[in-house]
Amino acid sequence: MKKGVTILGATGSVGRNALAVIDSLRDHFSIVGLTACRNAPLLRELIERYHPRYAALADEEQADALRSACPGHTRVLGGLEGVISVAAASEAQIVLSAIVGAAGLQPVLAAIKKGRTIALANKEPLVMAGGIITGLAQNVGATLLPVDSEHSAIFQCLCGNREQKIHKIVLTASGGPFYNTSTEALANVTPEQALAHPTWSMGAKISVDSATLMNKGLEVIEAHWLFGVDVESIEVVIHPTSVVHSMVEFLDGSIIAQLGRNDMKLPIQFALTYPDRMECPVERLDITEVSPLEFFPPKLDKFPCLALAYEAAKVGGTMPAVLNAANEVAVDEFLQRRLHFQEIPTIIERVMRDHQPVADPRLGDILAADEWARESAMESQRSHT
Ligand code: NAD
Ligand code: MG
Repeated sequence: MKKGVTILGATGSVGRNALAVIDSLRDHFSIVGLTACRNAPLLRELIERYHPRYAALADEEQADALRSACPGHTRVLGGLEGVISVAAASEAQIVLSAIVGAAGLQPVLAAIKKGRTIALANKEPLVMAGGIITGLAQNVGATLLPVDSEHSAIFQCLCGNREQKIHKIVLTASGGPFYNTSTEALANVTPEQALAHPTWSMGAKISVDSATLMNKGLEVIEAHWLFGVDVESIEVVIHPTSVVHSMVEFLDGSIIAQLGRNDMKLPIQFALTYPDRMECPVERLDITEVSPLEFFPPKLDKFPCLALAYEAAKVGGTMPAVLNAANEVAVDEFLQRRLHFQEIPTIIERVMRDHQPVADPRLGDILAADEWARESAMESQRSHT
């Protein structure tokens, strides 16, 4: 019997990779629902190809246009409510969350509430509300499976070792396109340069996050919630070729690592087929071609976003949501050429300094902190230009 899959963020980089995985495993999976933000032409194409029962666009106007253009088989919904309804649709056993940013928080909570298995690529909701997400998943018995390549690696290192004592998690980072750029030259880097990631092909926001190392900071917090390990025991190392996707060091000093091609189809497929493994249409890694494997400590002075993320995690409460929201605004401003690359951490730091964190936040506290941080980041940006 085929498993029903809903893909939230189907038009994005992870979403399209997930569809490619499902194309190659057509006998095992069928598509139940597809959602996107506003790309109606692409979503229409996907509806015609996959005939899902449900589709949604977050943009209401585009959803109306799509509804009138679409065949009757697919129910087309609109707005955040529409995306949430598709996330909760009962016909899907697995919901792959590949929305970018905080916008994925409420849809993923809706899918968890229904007890679905969640393949989670969208890391920002875990950063904002990791306690609420993991607590809810535990209460309803929903499984969270990581799709982020580092977290998929850690998850695979822990398979069969769950009960063993973890000494630390070692997250690998490529270092992004500017790791060897001088601090002076960093002042003038362009969005185009930031989007040219050396080892992975990804959406715009995560590519900029990789260039500032904020992506690794968000991943430290993501790993903390997914694996229940204190952030002090999560170390980041620069590994320029990204062949080792991450490692776990156990109490006895033994280190287990997962290696593979830098292709998101691998972790996406593992989350969909888990606990099974199946053939994957990704070229095999020839281990003799990847020598030497190099690892270096990160340059925190040059890339302050990583230190800001550790700080937000240590403060806890609503602070990680504030870090995330200020970062989303700053990255967008950088992509719109209204902010220099090096001002991204400056804005985030200012917003964090002005925040009075709420401990043990409820969802309402988190959404309020997110909204406050976005306004505060915009204000900070306006007052310094
Ligand atoms: P992307 O920008 O390519 O795609 C984002 C998707 O989300 C699109 O389908 C878009 O329509 C949808 N979306 C955007 N705003 C929305 C909104 N307000 N409401 C509903 N849908 C909305 O992003 P991506 O690179 O595919 O990344 C998706 C998520 O996966 C991110 O959280 C990212 O950090 C994470 N991730 C991505 C990769 C990668 O290789 N791209 C790797 C690991 C983790
Ligand atoms: Mg990653």
